[in-house]
Amino acid sequence: MSRYDLLVKNGTLVLPYVGSVRADLATRQGRIAAIGEDIPPADAEEVLDATGRLVFPGGVDAHYHLGIYRPLKVDAAQETRSSLVGGATSVLSYFRTGQHYLNRTGPYEEILPEVVAAVSGHSWTDFGFHLAPMDTRQVGEVPALVDRHGVSSFKYYMFYKGFNLSADSRDAKAFTMSDEYDLGHLYQIMEAVAAAGRRDAPLQGGPDRRVSLSLHCEQAELMRLFIDRVRAAGDPQTLKAYSDARPPLTERVAIGEATTLAAATACPVNLLHLSSGEALAAATEARLAHPDLDLRTEVTLHHLCLNHDELPGLGGKVNPPIRSAADTEALWAGVLSGKVDWVASDHACCLEEHKGDELWPALPGFGGTGLLYPILLSEGMHRRGLAPHRVAELVSANPARAYGLWPRKGSLLVGHDADLTVVDPDLEQEVSTDLLLSGQDHCPFAGRKVRGWPVATVLRGRIAYRDGAVVGDPRGTFLSR
Ligand SMILES: [Zn+2]
Repeated sequence: MSRYDLLVKNGTLVLPYVGSVRADLATRQGRIAAIGEDIPPADAEEVLDATGRLVFPGGVDAHYHLGIYRPLKVDAAQETRSSLVGGATSVLSYFRTGQHYLNRTGPYEEILPEVVAAVSGHSWTDFGFHLAPMDTRQVGEVPALVDRHGVSSFKYYMFYKGFNLSADSRDAKAFTMSDEYDLGHLYQIMEAVAAAGRRDAPLQGGPDRRVSLSLHCEQAELMRLFIDRVRAAGDPQTLKAYSDARPPLTERVAIGEATTLAAATACPVNLLHLSSGEALAAATEARLAHPDLDLRTEVTLHHLCLNHDELPGLGGKVNPPIRSAADTEALWAGVLSGKVDWVASDHACCLEEHKGDELWPALPGFGGTGLLYPILLSEGMHRRGLAPHRVAELVSANPARAYGLWPRKGSLLVGHDADLTVVDPDLEQEVSTDLLLSGQDHCPFAGRKVRGWPVATVLRGRIAYRDGAVVGDPRGTFLSR
């Protein structure tokens, strides 16, 4: 019997917060068992040659929507496969009651086990859930969800108090299937989340058990005005019109409202998918105004790389909208300067038939998880000089720390899960739906030349993806955090 199960030989390990080192890495029973200058191949059952390659910790894609438009089981099987292509080995998916997803309401203590059961056995990556308390009863479930169900992060959608998901209906109550979904509701959630975190702190300690609230920041009353104006002015069916209808000002105001309440309740918050220079500026102002507030920021691959002047059609409809080229550069500046804590895909598999050619009924969202490491390497490392270990922090270590997974995930440390991706930094490929192995039949990133791709992705010590294809069976398990 061999000493090790898998040996990753001759690669350069990329260590978050440290740098890059030339070293071999060996795994045993799903964990990293040794890191050394020269581990003999004879000591391992299987050897993965990483000569000339970079070995990154497996990505933690922290913003995801399993099962939003298709059955959970189907999304789990097809979309997490795409995550392996992009080097992610963990996904943290948002789930809520109301329209879409399971199209029902009820207590999460009943619904969450059903969701976990539907995904189990079908996911190629490990998976966890952030939950959105949609009504007062679900707010009351927060302590039990933290204590007994392994959920340590929650969500509030600022614009659901006035609109449904596509923004083609103002019947918000039919959409959320809840009572009052307003700032009063948000305040109650923040009190509950802050209390759950305070109670846990002395027992658990450290950033790895942080209990937090994620916020989708767009302000509904302003959206109402700007949507009416866009519709009255000829109603162009374009992504530019969609951005004009819910402009960056709505993000700025929502961030102001949310962070004021977060400071008042001492609730740790994550500002999701900042899409504009103005949103990033508002987050920076909130940090200055509330230095004691635990505030973290996220941007998505699409807000970093796509702009509404270059992207044709409506396939790129998403909330918040795709912005201008100047906004993409402002977000990259935030990534480079450290104002952005992590990058995620906001992956939501949405088929072309659900987009169509009418702006308002088109369902928002699309996939991007298969590009998590590739975009950061191509646009960040190669094009803008981002160091490899900073890439590892942005797509792996920082989200792992924010969401209670560090250092089990997000690191390459002996004793922790052997999740990693072996990257050929110079492999250049043109993005296509085929390449990404997702169930989605279109891709707003298609045609883009991207340099730096995973050639093998390892989940808990076993190769799960290699040279363009998945290997074996889906082995992902639920991440209790
Ligand atoms: Zn999302």
